[in-house]
Parts: sequence; structure tokens; C-alpha cells
Amino acid sequence: MSSESSTASSQRRLEGKVALITGGAGGIGEVTARLFVQHGAKVVMADIQDAHGQAIVQELGEDNISYVHCDVTSDSDVGNAVDLAVSKYGKLDIMFNNAGISSPDLHIVTSNDERFKRVLDINIFGGYLGSKHAARVMIPAKKGCILFTTSVFSVIAGADAGHAYVTSKHALVGLAKNLGVELGQFGIRVNCISPHGVATPMLTRPFGNLEKEKVEELIAMGSNLKGAVLEAEDVAQAALYLASDESKYVSGLNLIIDGGYSTTNPSMS
Ligand code: NAD
Repeated sequence: MSSESSTASSQRRLEGKVALITGGAGGIGEVTARLFVQHGAKVVMADIQDAHGQAIVQELGEDNISYVHCDVTSDSDVGNAVDLAVSKYGKLDIMFNNAGISSPDLHIVTSNDERFKRVLDINIFGGYLGSKHAARVMIPAKKGCILFTTSVFSVIAGADAGHAYVTSKHALVGLAKNLGVELGQFGIRVNCISPHGVATPMLTRPFGNLEKEKVEELIAMGSNLKGAVLEAEDVAQAALYLASDESKYVSGLNLIIDGGYSTTNPSMS
């Protein structure tokens, strides 16, 4: 390969691939969807934000990207989303189980039972359904890539993180590890991306009307790496690597993107 064509292909690292992204019409999912399209992938966004999802399709073109209403807790919705990727673009190479919600409950005694179950339902069961339906079409193809957006709270606990959220993200890593073992024989790789502190609506909502700079300042306090702020684009770049053939031998990884936060005892810093 000439250096020119090698540069061209490295600029379109997902050429010929088809991806489905849950939570793809917002936050990290949307930024990833846009990056994947730039890199030549056909993308299906599966989300519950219909108007915004459709607007992204209008902007980027239906040849490149589609939107489907999909509540990740619904078996039929998730099944339909996978079937749409196959019927419209011919196959499914990349399943990005990204949709997730946080929980405001920080104390077990006053914790709301229904909210606890809802967090587990979306974050864990949603990832289970996405993987189940993706595996159904990836196994016959004898290849595929399943990704999860987990969190730094998949490996540590945190007083402000909420027990439901921490439980769900720890569980997802267990699911991903086991799926890596189950599905490796079919050439399917399974990996997690664990960010900490991206200024998406999920994280900024509790800060109310604070200016973006102030929010980023508060987020940066949860990092050892001063002078840098984690952006959705950084998470999307990690997803791009794990979805591309550049990571063809990587499976069972939990890629933590937290500025080193989880490696230290915060009380010592
Ligand atoms: P976000 O709220 O900006 O986006 C989440 C998206 O998921 C939205 O588009 C929303 O409509 C969609 N969604 C919610 N419930 C859904 C459902 N039932 N079915 C389908 N789609 C649904 O949040 P984000 O920060 O982009 O979060 C994406 C993932 O990243 C989540 O799994 C979250 O736990 C994880 N994460 C975020 C951060 C952070 O700091 N923002 C850190 C670590 C991990």
C-alpha cells in the first residue's frame, strides 16, 4: 500500500462497516455516531429522542445514517433496531451499547426502589438485549464487535455516583467479560469504555444553570490530570479504535478514561 493510500484509509477507519449505537441521538452516542460516519461507517442511531435523531439524519443523509425509536429495555425495539441495520445496510459489524442513565439516590435508606430497578433495567438489561440481538446476526457472520459505555464507576465506588449506577456499571463489565469468553469462538470481540466526567446532559443536568467553564472546572476536580478536560470526542475516539480493525486482537478490555482518577486514593492527593 502506498503511503498516500495508507493515509487515506487511516482517515476512514470504518470504511465498509455498519454500526448500531444505542443512546445514539445524544451526548457521547451522538458524537460517536458523527465520528463513525466521518470514518466511512453506516450508522443506525437507536434512541428515544426522535426529533433530534431525525434532525441528525437530515443533516448527514440517510445513505450514511438512520434513526430508529428504540427503548433499550424493550426486546422488540432492540430486535427491530438490529434488523433495521441489517435490512438497510446489509449487516451489523459494531454494536455500541451506550445508552444509560444515572440516579439521584445517594443513600440506601431513602433510595427509591423503582428508580433503582429502572437504572438496572436501562443500564444492564439494555446492554444484555443489545448484545443478544447483535450476537444473533454476528455469529453467522463469524465476526463482530460489541462495545459498552461503562464508567470509571465500573471499577470504583463513589459517594456521589449513586449505588444503583455503580452497581449497574460493575455488572456491565461482568457481562462484557463473559460475552467475550462466550463469543470469542465466533470472532466477536467485546470491550468496555469507562470514562469519568464528560460534560453531557447526563452530567451537567444536576449543575443547573452553571456556565460551561464552571461545570468543566468542577468535573476536572475528579481528575489527576490538570489542564485537560475530558470531552465526548475523546470517548468517541476510543470507541473508534475499539470498533476498527486496528484493535483486532483486543477483547475483554475495560478502557478507563479518567485522567488517572481511579489509580489514586483521593484522600491522599
Ligand atoms: P446523555 O444523557 O447525554 O445521553 C444518553 C442518551 O441515551 C440520550 O440520547 C438518551 O435519550 C438515551 N437514552 C436514555 N434512556 C434510553 C432508553 N431507555 N433507550 C434508548 N436510549 C436511551 O448521557 P451520556 O453522558 O452521553 O451517557 C452515555 C453513556 O455514557 C451512559 O451509559 C453513561 O452511563 C456513560 N457515562 C457517561 C459519563 C459522563 O460523564 N457523561 C461518564 C461515564 C459513563
